[in-house]
Amino acid sequence: QAKKEGRNILRFFNQEMQDIINIRTSLEHELRIAAETSQFRLYYQIQVDNSNRVVGAEALIRWPHKKRGLISPATFIPLAEVTGLIVPIGKWVVESACAQLREWKKSHQTSSLTLAVNVSALQFRQADFVTHVKAAVKKYGISASLLKLELTESLLQEDIDITIDTMKALKEIGVQFSLDDFGTGFSSLQYLKQLPLDQFKIDQSFVRDITTNKSDKAIVKTIISMARGLNIEVIAEGVETEEQRQLLIADGCTAFQGYLFSKPLAIEEFEALIQRGVCK
Ligand code: C2E
Ligand code: MG
Ligand code: MG
Ligand code: MG
Repeated sequence: QAKKEGRNILRFFNQEMQDIINIRTSLEHELRIAAETSQFRLYYQIQVDNSNRVVGAEALIRWPHKKRGLISPATFIPLAEVTGLIVPIGKWVVESACAQLREWKKSHQTSSLTLAVNVSALQFRQADFVTHVKAAVKKYGISASLLKLELTESLLQEDIDITIDTMKALKEIGVQFSLDDFGTGFSSLQYLKQLPLDQFKIDQSFVRDITTNKSDKAIVKTIISMARGLNIEVIAEGVETEEQRQLLIADGCTAFQGYLFSKPLAIEEFEALIQRGVCK
């Protein structure tokens, strides 16, 4: 009898595990097809200066799924990274961002906007990364200085020399670099100072409680003053309230992104927002 129950328990756990494996396998299969047929969409979130003027945007990927709706990158980017699918997906993102910058070039209202693109470590480490970015810039005839690549601190942990060389090769044509989620990784200041960075992006986890948490406030203030000393711009992400904005301004922050200004929007809505000149 006990043996029988034991087997049932085992089968119960196995079924649950099997379900998880099945979901994961089918999602991976679907992601592979989505990558092969470019079934993704970019959403755009405005970035503003301290007078609320729009200075640029960040491109954020979405996966419109027949059954699951719009899948967030938090769900599929980690899967794309472990399967290597991030490489073709990342290429599509760079290509699409450059195509969008070419469209923006045509209108006075959008021609000077920068467009930030998230780049995964694995993508950045591909031997043809520099060649591909340069080719995309050339293909769409855009100004490389309007393209801003967002890297994460994980790139500082290994092969720092390769990271520096890759960045320098792209800086040669004017591409900008931002360090995303700044403060959440394990950046060594020794390495950090060697990188040709244009911007630090303060992680939203520090911004969230900046009005109530003394440590977060102190960290943000320190990041901003260090950046100023290094002649690097600072943008705060995840700004949701006017109080947060005011504190950040008082500490010397010059660029902002977050729901206070706008959520990430589909291209039509994004352009309508710019047309209305809302934050201008
Ligand atoms: P991230 O680059 O740090 O992007 C910021 C995330 O915060 C975005 O989530 C954005 O929608 C969200 N956000 C913006 N403003 C606010 C706010 O005021 N409050 C809160 N709570 N959240 C806000 P999203 O779009 O879901 O993207 C999540 C992450 O997925 C990104 O974090 C980035 O690491 C990754 N990701 C997105 N697109 C790409 C891509 O094209 N390539 C790669 N490799 N990663 C991407
Ligand atoms: Mg980002
Ligand atoms: Mg970020
Ligand atoms: Mg983040």
